[in-house]
Amino acid sequence: MNNCIFCKIINKDIPASIIYEDQEFLVFEDIKPIDKVHFLIVPKIHIKNLMGCNDTDQIMLGKMLLLGAKLANQLGLKGYRTMINSGAEGGQEVFHMHFHVYGGSDTLIKI
Ligand code: AMP
Ligand code: ZN
Repeated sequence: MNNCIFCKIINKDIPASIIYEDQEFLVFEDIKPIDKVHFLIVPKIHIKNLMGCNDTDQIMLGKMLLLGAKLANQLGLKGYRTMINSGAEGGQEVFHMHFHVYGGSDTLIKI
């Protein structure tokens, strides 16, 4: 999509700190991390958010969850949190679906 910052990162039109890439996903560090480790798993197809997904996206969504666990393990995290913001009222700022994975700090704020 033309005006989408994550599509631009996927197309390598703008830089990002990429930590993983395959045919379906690009994973890069969040530019404003909220923990010692904080990365975003981004499907290469432009989907607005989870509310724009349907049954045909089941496999892709499962892969995102498993990829988060795999990368968290590889990065040496003992545990991590995940977050998917959906819609402006759900705190979403970038309207290209993405999955936050973050962790690594000693202190954990319970929510
Ligand atoms: P969300 O509120 O779920 O839409 O989160 C969007 C996230 O994208 C925020 O945590 C931003 O810090 C992050 N972000 C925005 N622009 C960039 C960028 N150019 N590179 C890396 N992360 C970004
Ligand atoms: Zn996009």
